[in-house]
Amino acid sequence: MSETIKGQCLCGESTITIENGDSFKDQIICHCWDCKQTSGSAFSTNILAPTKDTKIEGPVKEFGVKAPSGNTVTRVFCGTCGSAISHRSVAFGDKAAIQTGNFRYFADKPVSTELFTKDRWTGLAAVEGATQLNTA
Ligand SMILES: [Zn+2]
Ligand SMILES: [Zn+2]
Repeated sequence: MSETIKGQCLCGESTITIENGDSFKDQIICHCWDCKQTSGSAFSTNILAPTKDTKIEGPVKEFGVKAPSGNTVTRVFCGTCGSAISHRSVAFGDKAAIQTGNFRYFADKPVSTELFTKDRWTGLAAVEGATQLNTA
């Protein structure tokens, strides 16, 4: 059985719907500096979801920023409350990164991978068992 999972921003005006969302059994931490700044924290938690299965609705805004790779990464966030919702890059192909903090569903899903560990803050330990990648 494939189920749709739903998330929402802090104010509730922006919603994210992912079809077959229950196929996501784990999530990815990113320690890059762009994720630190868009989350206002030391890292972000994400999945890579197929764009065709994902629907983002509400008063979202977008901001493009050049990543170290040279690709432009488009950051999508709620225009009312500022919650980080998604980011897109040609590097992700037909998928987009979706921030999992807007979904209760991900509260009990393990972290499988950590990205940009070279930028991990020293106060944070690596997640045991997770693949550690220095960059993307
Ligand atoms: Zn909002
Ligand atoms: Zn990142």
